[in-house]
Amino acid sequence: MLVDAHTHLELFAFWEVPFDEFSDKEELIKYLRSLRKKKLAAYGLDYSLGLTPEDLNELPYPVLLIYKDGHKGIGNEALVQEFNLNGPILKEHKLWEVANKLKPKGEDMREALERGLRKAKDMGLNEIHDFVDEDLARLYWEIELPLNVVLMPYFEHREAVLKYSNKKLKIGWVKIYVDGSISARTAYLKEPYEDTQTRGVLLVEEKKLAEMIREVEALGLRVALHAIGDGAIEVCLNAFERAKITRKYHRIEHAELITEEQINRAKELELLLCMQPNFSCYYSEIYKRALGERARRINPFDKVYEAGVELIFGTDMMPFDVNYAFGCAKKKLPEKVVLHLFGGWKKVKDYVNCV
Ligand SMILES: [Zn+2]
Repeated sequence: MLVDAHTHLELFAFWEVPFDEFSDKEELIKYLRSLRKKKLAAYGLDYSLGLTPEDLNELPYPVLLIYKDGHKGIGNEALVQEFNLNGPILKEHKLWEVANKLKPKGEDMREALERGLRKAKDMGLNEIHDFVDEDLARLYWEIELPLNVVLMPYFEHREAVLKYSNKKLKIGWVKIYVDGSISARTAYLKEPYEDTQTRGVLLVEEKKLAEMIREVEALGLRVALHAIGDGAIEVCLNAFERAKITRKYHRIEHAELITEEQINRAKELELLLCMQPNFSCYYSEIYKRALGERARRINPFDKVYEAGVELIFGTDMMPFDVNYAFGCAKKKLPEKVVLHLFGGWKKVKDYVNCV
């Protein structure tokens, strides 16, 4: 059994630009000019290209380029005009609000989704846990699925998505963003970043979060809280306690800077952590710059596992390559354990259906 427990297949619709093929920003701009689009939203931009909004201003149509971490994007003047924005740099909710308006709809999105599912199947995956809004959930429901899909509805879409389940399509955890990412310096930290002296952004306060968790439990579901910084993880743990949860295996996604004390609390609360071993390889340079000394204790999935906390792995599609993630995980854990965390758990524990 091979499971990628954290995917966004929707991103296949934003993969029109082969960012990795460009070694400098001039080449990228030349390519974008050749596309002759009416508008464009594309995902996968690397921070190392050093692209600025001004560079994009020579393109006459609205352009939004989203960085690989999915938490920040840059646009041009035409985009700012079209959507009446405050500026060309977009983060978090605002970023995806605009991206959603630009993304392909209907047939094109269905095609993108089918491409993503084919790739998942070819990689040998038997199941993915994919984050969805109502439109995407409906598409999944209409498609002949080549593997099992667990729908992870965004909080705003939690009730609308409930009706889209069948034999291969199950309703999973409800996604709530509690902070951003380390590369965008928006993950919420206890102590400031090394290079910006800011602490990141907390997207929802403890009290409000506890209410949201209770609402989700009342629907018979559980939450998947996106929390990367140690500050955000603390807020999640407090909120779970405040909400007096009655269900096992609510999830925390990423938990990149989880501390030893927080690991113990997660165990007490019978939480399920979904971590990304691939991040340790993929972001190692960014971690050092942003976190200094703290980069040493990033993604402690080995410690989480050894402490006996319930744990599963997902790639978050950075990159969408289970083999790459395997290689990173095996640097810290035996192969047998890695296989267990990438889906072997299905044979032992049914986290999905056991509510
Ligand atoms: Zn994600």
